[in-house]
Amino acid sequence: MALSKRGVRVGTNSCHLCSSGVDDTDHLFMGCSFAGDIWKWLCHWCGIPFRSFNNVSSLVEFAANWGHCPKKKRIFLVIVYGFLWCIWKARNEKVFRSTCANAPKVVDNILALVFDWVKHRGKFNNCNWYVWICNPFDIL
Ligand SMILES: [Zn+2]
Repeated sequence: MALSKRGVRVGTNSCHLCSSGVDDTDHLFMGCSFAGDIWKWLCHWCGIPFRSFNNVSSLVEFAANWGHCPKKKRIFLVIVYGFLWCIWKARNEKVFRSTCANAPKVVDNILALVFDWVKHRGKFNNCNWYVWICNPFDIL
């Protein structure tokens, strides 16, 4: 949408993941049914009630202030960053490589990516993959 507004020909302004919304940031991460299904699954995995957001800033702000345990809060915020990164990556792979977007595959990518971030960069060296995939906060 941003390129189109600047006069760059982009082919279509439709969302590449669901084809029913516009290809802008708020739709891609917050309004897209493809991303929404993944977000619902992540909420279930984390054991938190599903809630939707109007924009990325409100999602990140929610995650940054979620809960009372600083370690859980940090893990949840990293999960949100992993969600945003993997949705963006799935969108770009569809646009530039014509790959088929697959929600379960994106979920697997988020779990694996965030596990690596948490384990190797987040000072949770002892976290176990099998515990992680059941509930991310059980690694604490
Ligand atoms: Zn969409």
